[in-house]
Amino acid sequence: MASYDYDLFIIGGGSGGVRAGRMSASFGARVAMAEERYMGGTCVNVGCVPKKLFAYAAHVHEEVHDAAGFGWKIADGSFDWPTLVANKNKEIERLNGIYQRLMDNAGVTVLHERAVIKDAHTVTVGGRDISAERILVATGGWPFVPDFPGSELAINSNDAFFLERLPKRAVVVGGGYIAVEFAGIFNGLGCDTTQLYRGPLFLRGFDDDARVFLADEMKKKGVKLCFDTDVTRITREADGLRLALNDGSTLDCDLVMYATGRKPNSANLGLEACGVALDANGAVKVNGNYQTSVPSIYAIGDVTDRINLTPVALAEGMALAWHLYRDRERPVDYEFVPSAVFSHPNLATVGYTEAQAREKFGAVTIFKSTFTPLKHTLSGSKEKTLMKLVVDSASDRVVGAHMIGPDAGESIQGLAVAIKAGATKAMFDRTIGIHPTSAEEWVTMREPVA
Ligand code: NDP
Repeated sequence: MASYDYDLFIIGGGSGGVRAGRMSASFGARVAMAEERYMGGTCVNVGCVPKKLFAYAAHVHEEVHDAAGFGWKIADGSFDWPTLVANKNKEIERLNGIYQRLMDNAGVTVLHERAVIKDAHTVTVGGRDISAERILVATGGWPFVPDFPGSELAINSNDAFFLERLPKRAVVVGGGYIAVEFAGIFNGLGCDTTQLYRGPLFLRGFDDDARVFLADEMKKKGVKLCFDTDVTRITREADGLRLALNDGSTLDCDLVMYATGRKPNSANLGLEACGVALDANGAVKVNGNYQTSVPSIYAIGDVTDRINLTPVALAEGMALAWHLYRDRERPVDYEFVPSAVFSHPNLATVGYTEAQAREKFGAVTIFKSTFTPLKHTLSGSKEKTLMKLVVDSASDRVVGAHMIGPDAGESIQGLAVAIKAGATKAMFDRTIGIHPTSAEEWVTMREPVA
């Protein structure tokens, strides 16, 4: 039997890699990891965590406004961007340390260098060859900016976390999670904010009612939304940047951020040379057990470009460790994966959109409620909440829930358990609400939409 330096060598210390490493080591595997950039990967450093901290900062603006209706006299405060960035950086450094300690305590050797795959059982790290029975590619993704004249003048979401100053006029290009979230962040922090999206309505793939509702809410908060709009050229002018748009007009701004998707981080890793199959987008192709076309090489998370969410990568890391080192299958179930867009207000969703449900189940019953949350009866805010349930008419099973409103993700996470467990609308109806909350609406919607 061949003897290897390690049982498992992981490339990438992000959400998926760290979880797979910890679990595998706890099951007795000898594990090493290479991470060339920062422990915790995208989520901790330039994704979920700092994004949500920025989103909180942007919400404070509204809270200060809302306070007046409750009798608080708060002088119009000023906002200091460098303080936010410095505090965020301090927190991220703390998390980097926690991730490193997690690995140390689990007995995983971490090499802070780039690893390249040499062959099916060898990686080269810092000029040294290391052998492993298995190699796991968990290298995540990287922001993609299309190539066009002046595109080098645009920043991506990674850069947005380290801006030296906040722009007066910000333009965000794209219509996915990141673009919508950053449009809300820039707007909430006081920038004159425009979001450009090439299609007729952003958040393609989300429930149509939710997309329309969120667009209206964002407009109310001051974000200028321009759909069916694309940038053909960016030029630097004396007083900022000028964007030439597809309708022949121009738009001036101080900063343009592209959030036009992310590409799998699979280049220059030696994957193709040793026969690992990639798809046209560069995603590593895997089977149901995360095995690539080379049997000793595995891949999980964003580098496989399936459901690109941290909790999915965590679940995949866990499932792989059980599969490899516990001989037990705990497969990831990709149906009813909840997610939230930390837009202003938040959007969260689990299960099928109305359109998807009609296609899959045929007849569906829709329950929908839009209302002004109790808080805003005094705050004076015009913000409204949307809650929508999609029910498979034949089985009465709730197959989708969509919400726009404060902390929508908190509400949908709980609901996701019920929906995953197969709860019917009748069970929702038998559940007692918590009064007064917005969430009680989930169990009090009686009349279906005609
Ligand atoms: P998305 O894939 O979600 O959205 C990309 C957007 O860019 C789409 O609106 C797309 O338009 C548009 N686009 C793509 N190519 C071009 C182009 N050449 N020119 C103009 N527009 C273009 O990517 P994001 O970057 O927003 O996020 C990446 C992934 O990260 C998400 O899909 C999600 O899985 C994850 N994520 C999750 C978050 C969360 O859970 N809260 C937060 C942030 C990211 P079209 O729709 O027309 O294709």
